Amino acid sequence: MSFAFAAPPTPAIPIEGADLFFPVRRIWCVGRNYAEHAREMGGDALREPPFFFGKPADAVVPGGGEVRYPAATNDLHHEVELAVAISGGGTDIAGEDAYRHVFGCALALDMTRRDLQAEAKRMKRPWDMAKGFDQSCPVGAIRPAAAAGAMNSGALWLLVNGEERQRGDLSDTIWSVPECIAALSRLVRLAPGDLLLTGTPAGVGPVAPGACSKRTVP
Ligand code: MN
Repeated sequence: MSFAFAAPPTPAIPIEGADLFFPVRRIWCVGRNYAEHAREMGGDALREPPFFFGKPADAVVPGGGEVRYPAATNDLHHEVELAVAISGGGTDIAGEDAYRHVFGCALALDMTRRDLQAEAKRMKRPWDMAKGFDQSCPVGAIRPAAAAGAMNSGALWLLVNGEERQRGDLSDTIWSVPECIAALSRLVRLAPGDLLLTGTPAGVGPVAPGACSKRTVP
């Protein structure tokens, strides 16, 4: 097959403990999966089934790379989330089979132009420009599923320049990882390389331009 110009590179995320990369096909995100975050955004997620939105695959910034402050916003927010890396796939995946389709997990940021999202909500417009902009998905190394274990409990937190901004536990999610995979697979055919961000706990907030101090967390 000959392309009209060089095919774009495949976005890829390093895999922990291996000299291999996870090639990213698509990025899907769950909205409002922690009740406390749903409340801080003015909703009540308890009565709503999970809903999803997407980001382009090349929005990933792998492995602690530099992120530029994006255009068109004065209110760039962090949302720390568990990202589930899919290596299986299909449609109508049953919850009890979901982990068979999981390669591993990583910590990701669903960066959000909150001002554009608020406008989109108000105008009943799509979220793409609020959520799917360039570099909107920094992702750490992927931990293979065997090392990560079951993803139904475990703390996740985010420090910004050493200050804790977000903390939650996977056991606080409204929809579990298998339930999210099952629900998404009823809407689209999942395939190897799909990445699913599973929602953010409370404490989202703005980040400012400028170099951040790097800290090692024990
Ligand atoms: Mn999110």
